[in-house]
Amino acid sequence: MSYFDENYATIKAIADDIFNHPELGYKEFRTKQIVIDYIRQVFPKAKIQEYTTTGLRVDLDNGADRTMGILAELDALINPTHFQADPETKACHACGHFSQVAIALDLFGFLTNEHTFKNYNMNFSFVFVPAEEFIDLDYRQSLIDAGKVTYSGGKAEMMKLGAFDGIDFMMATHSIGNEPGDTVEINCDLAGFLHKYYTFIGKAAHAGFDPFSGINAYSMSSLFNVALGMMRQQIREDLFVRINPVIANGNFSINVIPNQVTVSTDVRTIEVGYMKEIAARLDDAAEGSSQALGGQLKTKTQMGYLPFVQDRYLNQFVQQVFDEQTSIKKMINDRGAIAAAGDIGDLSYIMPCIQISYGGFQGDIHGDNFRMVNPEFVLKDFPEFLSKVIERLDEKVEKNQLYHRPFIDYAKYIDEIIKKETINEE
Ligand SMILES: [Zn+2]
Repeated sequence: MSYFDENYATIKAIADDIFNHPELGYKEFRTKQIVIDYIRQVFPKAKIQEYTTTGLRVDLDNGADRTMGILAELDALINPTHFQADPETKACHACGHFSQVAIALDLFGFLTNEHTFKNYNMNFSFVFVPAEEFIDLDYRQSLIDAGKVTYSGGKAEMMKLGAFDGIDFMMATHSIGNEPGDTVEINCDLAGFLHKYYTFIGKAAHAGFDPFSGINAYSMSSLFNVALGMMRQQIREDLFVRINPVIANGNFSINVIPNQVTVSTDVRTIEVGYMKEIAARLDDAAEGSSQALGGQLKTKTQMGYLPFVQDRYLNQFVQQVFDEQTSIKKMINDRGAIAAAGDIGDLSYIMPCIQISYGGFQGDIHGDNFRMVNPEFVLKDFPEFLSKVIERLDEKVEKNQLYHRPFIDYAKYIDEIIKKETINEE
């Protein structure tokens, strides 16, 4: 009986507990306590470092010159119609992060059991990160305004706080939607995105008696939306560009010419240069739309996440381990990129990262019916597979094949993408 067989019931109970108690980003206090309790239980002398509200890091130090990171995301997302959504917070684990936490804890238990980690020539850092989902933004803005965090995304925040210092490369995991069987996936790249807010400012007037004196902000926003629709023809389709404009707020009433409408939209793509180019075209379209009707425009840009390109050097070893085993049947290694995003893209700016995905789930990711249907694969076979990956990485990874950039370079890079807030009045 393997360690993972023996530990299965314990890990399954932890996974179920987190699944049944979903928490939103930067508020994963209960989940954090579950992680702390398990770590203390299996390795009482562990030194647990805490970062921001709910982030954790625990190291297994061999005094080696390489350190492998193992990452798990703590947060749930908002989908009130998910079958397990919390009625109060609307949070639910429809992205499977609960299972990431359980898998990481299983690996922590495996490596500390009989001090197994001492058999490796590298150190290990387990990092539990809050707030991967880019949601609940008013709350996060309140944290930013109060000076409690700088970034909406948990990884960037933990990067800033030094939670990844000394780690040379990172292995993350993620569930796959509608893939109930025993499947693993590597080399799936993700898009990055930024968020634009265009506030069209007009002039209020009586809509019946004197519309001639008004300047209609809703008309400007409609013009902008038409321009965006026509612009789509001029956007490259190989770079997975996504633009989803919505009216974020506005001054609307039936008998007054609307004098303010804010359109917000994401700009997603897998290439940062193109993201900047498309964002600039959107700025021009918004500016033109406001000018066409004699209004004004305020523009605000908020960075989302950077695109994620999985590290091919590290993933070749994952593929090797897969090829040498027979218990897991399917490997997906050719999907290319998808237009979903994750803040592992930001982490991959400073160090090589891989995200090994796993099946065992039914339903659409983020959808109403997303659920784990193959727990024995997710919480036993898959962690066992990862333990072999760790072994192979220990044998093969050469430090001179890994890149490293300091956090300050990341911060500058992000500043350069969003520039600073622009207000083009007049
Ligand atoms: Zn996710």
